Amino acid sequence: MKRICVFCGSSVGANPRYVKAAQELGYLMAKKNIGLVYGGASVGIMGEVASAVLKEGGNVIGVIPSFMVEKELAHPGLSELKIVNSMHERKALMAELSDGFIALPGGFGTFEEFFEVLTWGQLSIHTKPCGLLNICNYYDKLIEFIDHSVKEKFVKPECRVLVLTDSEPEKLLEQFENYQAPELKLLDLSKT
Ligand code: AMP
Repeated sequence: MKRICVFCGSSVGANPRYVKAAQELGYLMAKKNIGLVYGGASVGIMGEVASAVLKEGGNVIGVIPSFMVEKELAHPGLSELKIVNSMHERKALMAELSDGFIALPGGFGTFEEFFEVLTWGQLSIHTKPCGLLNICNYYDKLIEFIDHSVKEKFVKPECRVLVLTDSEPEKLLEQFENYQAPELKLLDLSKT
């Protein structure tokens, strides 16, 4: 696994353990020689994960739209900063550069980014692992809701396995290393 894309909050959140987990993930990725791809900002959990990878001598590619360079304060010390024209270009480039996707705690932006790559996995546009790093049970209710969607027959049971979850960075990375994408048939809309 050469590079992992990490989606996460542009805020630090209410619990200092969110920042600690971001730093732990960053250190681990650098140690395992896995490069970080992320949104390029210096703020929030985003800045923390990037700084941790850099501090440990790892490689970080930031991808940020030009209109956001000032708003989210582009991180000044990245290995590479790619400035793109739109949010759509940002997400497409982050996905192309990465071999897997992790969501740390975050807000609407994080949810949207994670569910987009998950949907692309569901459509077999890629076969890369997608995981929620469930720090301090932050994603419990989201995971519950995903299970509810399966129960209510809006998410196919065979697609449920696309969402990897763990509360520890090390264990989630292990799951990524052992990941085998399920064989999914394209959705047959006549049966939904
Ligand atoms: P948030 O989780 O809302 O703090 O945002 C995390 C990252 O997602 C930031 O880099 C935001 O710029 C980005 N973001 C916010 N809204 C969107 C969106 N609609 N689509 C894609 N990315 C977004």
